Amino acid sequence: MASLSLRHVTKAYPNGFVAVKDFNLEIADKEFIIFVGPSGCGKSTTLRMIAGLEDISSGELYIDGKLVNDVEPKDRDIAMVFQNYALYPHMTVYDNMAFGLKLRKTPKDQIDKLVQEAARILDLSHLLDRKPKALSGGQRQRVAMGRAIVRNPKVFLMDEPLSNLDAKLRGQMRIEISKLHQRLQATIIYVTHDQTEAMTLGTRIVVMKDGVVQQVDSPQNLYDKP
Ligand code: ADP
Ligand code: ADP
Repeated sequence: MASLSLRHVTKAYPNGFVAVKDFNLEIADKEFIIFVGPSGCGKSTTLRMIAGLEDISSGELYIDGKLVNDVEPKDRDIAMVFQNYALYPHMTVYDNMAFGLKLRKTPKDQIDKLVQEAARILDLSHLLDRKPKALSGGQRQRVAMGRAIVRNPKVFLMDEPLSNLDAKLRGQMRIEISKLHQRLQATIIYVTHDQTEAMTLGTRIVVMKDGVVQQVDSPQNLYDKP
């Protein structure tokens, strides 16, 4: 859990294109923030700036009151889950989940404890020896989430995590994510095109267009207007 503060955050890519313009948002501890808006409106760019994968051109980003503009991604205590899973195909489920912890030189016995616990939460305990190609889409997505939760990050960024799944699995995973949010008490920022996901998961919804925040509101106010 963590609070985030984006103040006048702007992104101009090296080619001069301004993808995000004067983004202002205060995110409280444990909020579940949804980003919606047409393709190309700057949602992923904003997530990548929060993760530190993309420099902020101007403006400030604070996490728990600390200015993090110049903090390395690995030191931001943020985990990101993508729609294409980005699993390592040659590694087992176990090693995929352990990878980030190994990079951070976490002791082996602790890695084992964290991976086993995440596997239990995500119902992956029986699949730890498999390679990603021997998993279903939903299982792969759970591994991608497992890799994020083993680090127990303060903030989760999820970029259309369910968009490659069929409708039934999407419904199941939506419930999983909601439970995960409760259980981890994490702050989540979640990009989606799916109105059901936005309505059922979000505490607030940020509507973007052409790099600009158009509206920030509760799901009820945004979608339930008569
Ligand atoms: P969204 O996630 O809402 O689909 P993105 O943040 O991916 O939007 O992209 C926002 C805009 O920035 C798009 O017009 C995209 O083409 C542009 N863009 C993304 N990456 C780059 C880049 N590296 N250089 C220049 N323009 C980029
Ligand atoms: P390394 O990659 O350093 O050779 P290993 O892959 O041999 O490490 O695994 C080290 C530890 O991780 C093992 O002692 C074991 O506790 C745990 N481990 C690895 N794979 C599994 C698995 N499929 N299920 C449960 N625990 C595992």
